[in-house]
Amino acid sequence: MHQETKLAQIGKSRCRTTGAISCPVYYSTAYEHPALGQSTGFDYTRTANPTRVVLEEAIADLEGGDRGFACSSGMAAIQTLMGLFSRGDHLIVSLDLYGGTYRLFEEVLTRYGLSFSYVDLRDLEAIRKAACPETRGIFIESPTNPLMRVTDIQAVCELATAQGWLSIVDNTFMTPYFQQPLELGADLVVHSATKYLGGHNDVLAGLIVSRGTELSEKVFALHNSIGAVLGPQDAWLLMRGMKTLALRMEKHQENALALTQFLREHPAVEDVFYPTRDPLDRKVQEAQARGYGGMLSFRLKDSSLVPELLASLKLISFAESLGGVESLITYPSTQTHADIPEAIRHRVGVCDKLLRLSVGIENLGDLIDDLSGALKQASIQTSLYSKEERV
Ligand SMILES: *Cc1c(COP(=O)(O)O)cnc(C)c1O
Repeated sequence: MHQETKLAQIGKSRCRTTGAISCPVYYSTAYEHPALGQSTGFDYTRTANPTRVVLEEAIADLEGGDRGFACSSGMAAIQTLMGLFSRGDHLIVSLDLYGGTYRLFEEVLTRYGLSFSYVDLRDLEAIRKAACPETRGIFIESPTNPLMRVTDIQAVCELATAQGWLSIVDNTFMTPYFQQPLELGADLVVHSATKYLGGHNDVLAGLIVSRGTELSEKVFALHNSIGAVLGPQDAWLLMRGMKTLALRMEKHQENALALTQFLREHPAVEDVFYPTRDPLDRKVQEAQARGYGGMLSFRLKDSSLVPELLASLKLISFAESLGGVESLITYPSTQTHADIPEAIRHRVGVCDKLLRLSVGIENLGDLIDDLSGALKQASIQTSLYSKEERV
């Protein structure tokens, strides 16, 4: 079946007694044993919950993996996977990484004896150079956040597998509707389901999908031992959001493509970042994914335009997240990427003229009106202000 069919049908007819179309929410934390040594498959909710299991099977199927695991947040999912590594292990990681992942790696996991090298994963030679005898894993974000650079997932995973490293792909931006990293050779996929999968800015969740029985058993043991699992109500809310993922992704992308065009032609804008910007990135993206997604970033000609632009937007909210039906704009240098040291931020191009837009599913004309009005207002105010200053 196709992804949109699988998505729409999540959780249907799981309750044989009632035939409920929407998956029931099981709040029970404990489950009665039929007899000594027997189990219904459910004993204690941290280990397995009947609602959460439906979600976990759905994401495993959508990603083409063996097993799915639902966690209390994207960060909880990444932390759970880091339990696969031991003191002394080294990982190679995407250079312009999600700020929260960078913070977890540098502020928490280095204290547990893990080390990380941040590398532009488009450069296989740079990966080979960063490798050392302690390297055990590679962590890929593609497209990257916020510069939308594209990593050749298949090439990087091939290299990783040949070296015996575990490969993990954060598939938050693409979702399995557009990209299935396990089919490109990755061992593990991780999601902040808070973003596109949930899709409505109302549920915090993380998902993991593993490939292979042995690896799946290890992740299951970590998921159950660490216990950062998703509650049943949130599992239901996430499934409810996922049912419309296909429709939403198509609309996010349609709007994003049109907005990149609009912004590229705008005199106040210096550059627009989207997976189609660089011809090589575009080629790789088209080979490994079925779309480009709904995220874009743009660099203004002048950073002094930023405060007035953010203040003048009426429809697009200045808020820190992405992937929901509502359009949100983020200022990475003080928000999502604030924990990344300034020198590194500037090296990867996250400068104070850069804004990131999570394009929603609103009417395109309304979005363009809002952006063009705010850009105009910002240009007027900023030029007045600088004139006053000169006087
Ligand atoms: C938001 C995000 C995370 C963290 O997920 P939470 O659900 O906020 O814990 C990880 N990776 C990426 C790419 C994200 O956008």
